[in-house]
Amino acid sequence: MLRHHISHELRPQTTAHLAQTMAFLQLNTLELENTLINELNQNPALELVEERRCPTCGKKLSQGPCPTCARLTDDGAPVIYLSTRQSFGSHDGAAEEDRADSYEPHTRESLEEFILKQIAADLTREERPIAAYILLQLDEDGLLTEETVEIAAYLRAPLATVERVLGLIQHAEPVGVGARGPIESLLIQIEALKGTASENLRNLARAIIVDAFDLLARNDLRQIARQLRSPLATVELAARFIQRNLTPYPGRAYWGDGKTPSEDLPAYHEADVNITLQRRGTETPATLMVEIFTPLAGTLRVNPTLRAAMQELTDQDAGKQEKWAQAVERATLITKCVQQRNHTMRRLMEILVNHQKDFILNGDGSLKPLTRSVVAKTLGVHESTISRAVASKTIALPSGRIVPLSKFFDRSLSVRDRVRQIIEAEPRPMTDDEIADALSRDGIDVARRTVAKYRNMLGILPANLRHRPAGVPVVA
Ligand SMILES: [Zn+2]
Repeated sequence: MLRHHISHELRPQTTAHLAQTMAFLQLNTLELENTLINELNQNPALELVEERRCPTCGKKLSQGPCPTCARLTDDGAPVIYLSTRQSFGSHDGAAEEDRADSYEPHTRESLEEFILKQIAADLTREERPIAAYILLQLDEDGLLTEETVEIAAYLRAPLATVERVLGLIQHAEPVGVGARGPIESLLIQIEALKGTASENLRNLARAIIVDAFDLLARNDLRQIARQLRSPLATVELAARFIQRNLTPYPGRAYWGDGKTPSEDLPAYHEADVNITLQRRGTETPATLMVEIFTPLAGTLRVNPTLRAAMQELTDQDAGKQEKWAQAVERATLITKCVQQRNHTMRRLMEILVNHQKDFILNGDGSLKPLTRSVVAKTLGVHESTISRAVASKTIALPSGRIVPLSKFFDRSLSVRDRVRQIIEAEPRPMTDDEIADALSRDGIDVARRTVAKYRNMLGILPANLRHRPAGVPVVA
């Protein structure tokens, strides 16, 4: 009778289920973890068991990622898997038992090779040995300990040339490598983020780094606020921006275990998704290993003891029965929605990683146009689902750089695509003003000039020069 009562109660829960999944989807891993800890504290029917299970297939794990779900494939396709935060950044362990062949964990392109590949086209024949020399002087943090004057003297090269080459190195991925110290490195990275954050935020972040770096390292934000005469909330925002987007030791993140932040610095690496490169042998190209972190180290489930105890309740315990039933219902909802959220994140990353593989490997110049609506269509979900899944998530690229997941959707490219779509669908040639109006109805506010610019980039003529296809009547 009770069972009947519950399932009846659960049936109209689809709306609640959807709303809860959406709410979870919008949170990043850390925020979701906090939310779930609250739920655990409030709800006796929800429990966290310490055993670690693969969030994808449910297999019990000892340590490291799931050997089945995080297995290298023969076709070299990206490996995308969910893993609980405990296994943060560790790919080996479980992997080794399963693959006794020539598998080498953590085989990466060296930092020098990776940078040289990016700047090679910009180097003259004379500059190449200078670049090679500078790259070999980098310490394990990716910083340059030698002065440019010394390098110029040693190589008998003009100082200006050495500085130009160093500039190229500093702006290649990972941005900030080749700086003379952590502070300079952070400042270079801030410059590179121009356009991705407000000017005010970047200015404050710059001021904190220049004038209050020691305080930042101690995470003493109150003192920073006092010293810089800025509101604490704004300082918190800027500090978060720094911690999420910048790293004082760009080379360390690239090479090895950059995921263990050094003791005197705040934790810089808390991306929601971590992408690394792995090679099976020296011949095959590297495979992208995409690790999506799920909250909490253990496994979330509905407390079986409480469920069993509920069966024992008699009709006299109606009040208790009602209360427990609600708790069980809520716990069921939470566990299901967390699974749903993880599942959506995984499918989303599958599409993003496959589409933006070049960007992941080679940096900003290789970003391809992609809109949330295209991804939504591919996944068969609403566009708002994609927006939520992308919101407030960060991703660590193989270069060690941490970027917001929204970076995978280039805004200017998507606006440009929208301009193209609008013109392709126009019943009669639309003026740039009309296109701007159409965009603003889609929630994109751009000036007529911007439309003209995108239209020119697309090689499309202005309205008065566009041909009307034969047979299409002029709409007056
Ligand atoms: Zn698995």
